[in-house]
Amino acid sequence: MAVNNLMISERIFRAYDIRGIYGLDLDANVAKLIGRAIATYVGGEGKTFIVGRDVRLSSKPLGDALIEGMVSGGLDVEDIGTVTTPLLYFATMHYNKDGGVMVSASHNPPEWNGFKILLRKGFVCMGMGMEELRDIAIKEAFRSAKMGVVKVNPKVISEYEDYISERVNIGKAIKVIADPGGGSCTVLMPRAFEKAGLNAHVIYGKPDGSFSRHPPEPDERTLSELRMLVLKEHADFGVGFDGDGDRAVFIDDKGRVVPSNAVLAMLSRHFLRKHRGAVVVYEVSCSMMVEETIRAYGGRPVLSRVGHTYIYEKMISENAILGGETSGHFYFRDIHCFDDAVYASLKVAEAISEENVRLSEIVDSLPKYPQIPVKNYDCPDEKKFRVVEDLAKDFESYGYKTITLDGVKVILEDGWFLIRPSNTQPLIRLTVEAKNEENLRKIESYAEKILLEKIRDLK
Ligand SMILES: [Zn+2]
Repeated sequence: MAVNNLMISERIFRAYDIRGIYGLDLDANVAKLIGRAIATYVGGEGKTFIVGRDVRLSSKPLGDALIEGMVSGGLDVEDIGTVTTPLLYFATMHYNKDGGVMVSASHNPPEWNGFKILLRKGFVCMGMGMEELRDIAIKEAFRSAKMGVVKVNPKVISEYEDYISERVNIGKAIKVIADPGGGSCTVLMPRAFEKAGLNAHVIYGKPDGSFSRHPPEPDERTLSELRMLVLKEHADFGVGFDGDGDRAVFIDDKGRVVPSNAVLAMLSRHFLRKHRGAVVVYEVSCSMMVEETIRAYGGRPVLSRVGHTYIYEKMISENAILGGETSGHFYFRDIHCFDDAVYASLKVAEAISEENVRLSEIVDSLPKYPQIPVKNYDCPDEKKFRVVEDLAKDFESYGYKTITLDGVKVILEDGWFLIRPSNTQPLIRLTVEAKNEENLRKIESYAEKILLEKIRDLK
C-alpha cells in the first residue's frame, strides 16, 4: 500500500531542536527534507557530519532518511548508529567534524522523535540558524551539489568508553545499580562502567524502542524499583538515565532521590579540591546552597540562563570545569564541555571513592534550604513576557536586588524568588527558596500576590 508523504510543518522547528510525533509530523520524507536543508544551510560539499540515533523504533528509518538528504546535499556522513546524545556531541567535537545530528526526542514518550543539530560554532536554535534552516526546508530552497558519501563507523562507541573511563579514578569497590530504562545508555553504559572499575548491576539494560517498562524519564514515578534495589542490594548508589543519556538522577545508599542541586554541589566540591579557583556554571533556579558551596571550596560561581544551549556556551566562554542544572544535566570540561549522564555517574563514584564516605553522608552534610515545588500560573502567550518585564521594573523600583538574566530573580535577605515565562506554554512559573520554612511561606505569598495582580491588571 502506498503511503502518502507528510508535508513538512513549521511547528516542528522549536527553540532548541526539531521535534514532532512520528507519522503525524515526522516521516522519512520530512527527515530527508531536513537533511537536505542542513546540507544547504552549512554549504554542502567538503563537509563531514556525524549522525547518531537513540533506541526509538522510528529513529532508524528517520536517521536513514536524514542521511540520504544530507548526502544528496553534498555532505559526507559518518553513521555511528545507536548512541547517547552526549556521545554524538562528544564525537562531533573530538573528531573535528563540521557538525553532528542526533535523532532523538530525549525523554518524550515513544511516539515522539526529533533532531538536535550541533555545528562547530554551537547548537542550531532559534536566533542561531533554526529560522534559516526551517525556511530552506519548507521552501525546498536547496542548493544542488555533488553527492557526498556515507561511512558506517561503529568504532566511535568503544573509543568513547575508553576516553571517559580513563578520566576517572575509582580507588575502592563501589556497587551501583543502574537503570537506563531500555534507553540509549544501554549500548555503552555497562561497558563504560566496567572499564572504569565500577561494579554495576544494570536493570532494563536491553534497548527497548517502545520504552515498555517505564517512561524514559528518571523521576519519582519511574525510580521506585531502583530505590528498592539500592536498599535490598546494599548498593553505594543508584542512577536512573533518561532516554538519550544526557540526564541522570541519583539515589543515595539510603534509597533517597538526591536532588540535582546536591549532586552539583557535591561535584563542585570534588572538582574544586583539585582545581582551586576554577569556574563552575550554575543556573538561576539552582539552590543558593550551590553558590555557597562553590565559593566555600574556592571556586568562581558563574550564573547562566536555564537551558542546555546557554549552559554549554557559558562553559566554553568561561572555560568552566563543571556545570549543572536542576533538571539533572551535568556538564564537564573533560568531555568538550558537554553534559553527559554516564560521565556524571562515574564522577559521582569517583567522589565517593576519594572521600571514602557514603553518598548519604555527603548529601546530609550539605546545607538544605526549603523550596516550594515550582508553581505555574496561566497567562496568555502574548502577555507572559510583558508581565515578567513589567514585574522586573517594579521590583527594581522597590529597591530589590534583581537578576534579569532569565525572567526576574529577586534576591532577598533570607531567600529569593524567580518568576519566568515558559518558553513553550502559556504559563508563568514561580520558584521560591528561603533559609527557613517561615520565610519561605512569606516570600511565596508575597510573590504570588504581586504576580497574580500583574497578570490580572496588565492589558
Ligand atoms: Zn535527554
